[in-house]
Amino acid sequence: MTAPVVRFAPSPTGKLHVGNVRTALINWLFAKGQGGKFILRVDDTDTERSTQDYEDQIKADLTWLGLVFDDTFNQSARFEKYDAAADRLRGMGLLYACYETADELDRKRKIALSRGRPPVYDRSALSLTDEDKAKLEAEGRKAHWRFKLSGNRVEWTDLVRGPQGIDTSSVSDPVLIREDGSYLYTLPSVVDDIDAKITHVVRGEDHVTNSGAQIEIFKALGGEAPDMAHTPLLVDAEGGAFSKRLGSLSMDTLEQRGILPMAILSLLAKLGTSDNIEVREDLATLASEFDFGKIGRAPAKFDEKDLLSLNAVLVHDLPFDAVREDLEKISPDAANEPFWLAVRENCETVHDVKPFADIAYGRIEPIIDDEDADFIAEAKTLLPNGELTGESWKAWTGDLKQATGRKGKSLFMPLRKALTGQEHGPDMSVLFPLIGREAAARRLSRD
Ligand code: GLU
Repeated sequence: MTAPVVRFAPSPTGKLHVGNVRTALINWLFAKGQGGKFILRVDDTDTERSTQDYEDQIKADLTWLGLVFDDTFNQSARFEKYDAAADRLRGMGLLYACYETADELDRKRKIALSRGRPPVYDRSALSLTDEDKAKLEAEGRKAHWRFKLSGNRVEWTDLVRGPQGIDTSSVSDPVLIREDGSYLYTLPSVVDDIDAKITHVVRGEDHVTNSGAQIEIFKALGGEAPDMAHTPLLVDAEGGAFSKRLGSLSMDTLEQRGILPMAILSLLAKLGTSDNIEVREDLATLASEFDFGKIGRAPAKFDEKDLLSLNAVLVHDLPFDAVREDLEKISPDAANEPFWLAVRENCETVHDVKPFADIAYGRIEPIIDDEDADFIAEAKTLLPNGELTGESWKAWTGDLKQATGRKGKSLFMPLRKALTGQEHGPDMSVLFPLIGREAAARRLSRD
């Protein structure tokens, strides 16, 4: 088999979110696992809604994720190619002018439905004579253009869904060109896939019906259709449609929240597959494990909790250098290695250091219950001399146990509450030296 060439084709009309990143990732893993190419195609034929900012953001996000693209191009730079393809289709009698307004089409659909027929376009424009058309145009109407489907069954073996068939007599001839002359996505995509020698079209299953028409357009334009893979869509943890939550799941938001690329990639690569969801170290590992055959047919449930648990696994191992800058922003006092190594086990994202930094370096409100007052006073007198170290906590609480007879929770909890102002938190033996002797003494006196 020749090395695959795939494309990821987002429209720059919004930010990348976990749903479209999953499509990008599956393309990337499949191609790169076999030494192939991953192309970023910017689907910006909708010049009104597409923006340069979104395009830049998409490129930055892919780069941040490590989904490096071998090539990129914009559809908006290729209108001449689409015009030429449209002319060829016209020449073959496969692209025909229609003049119905949206209201007229709507009425036709309603009538068809009320008669128990599928709301498929009736092709009445095919019987318009040149004279009819001239008259309509003289009335100020402009043509939109439909591709004439064969009426046959289009079949392909989908790499995810298995054997597929679309009966093209049961779908409307797709509009390829709107009456203002602008292109819908269908034709440019095929023209680009032919020119870029795309071997596999990998996209969400919302495009399955498009594929029926597009395969016919590929054939009409003299190309063989690429292989196709349509992946089930992502749904939220409850199985519901996902779109409402997407804002909080855009790549830039996740990055700001401290979610690491490999957490996102590990989850999205495994979601809805027969593999376990576990953190992987790098994209190469994910690529070596990728197989279309592992992708199930059921919608893939995206649960943010999974993302956080994977992120936590990665954060627990992050060296100080990897978080130094983040720590400086979160709490400059906390930008030191002993602090990071002490607290990272308790963090799902780097931002979780904040309460710990506040305990170690900020002003806290010690909690000393009345029944613990004497015990805490004793604890203060037994504080180890000199600088506190990793051993200090054990030594101190050992002394205190002997001196007071307290043990377990009644020994440790009052100390934690006095020193941190909280009932829960990181390992006190690690936190204790970070707080330091002076602050510890102050807190034990409630100063
Ligand atoms: N711009 C299209 C989309 O985002 C691309 C679909 C395709 O991959 O062909 O849905």
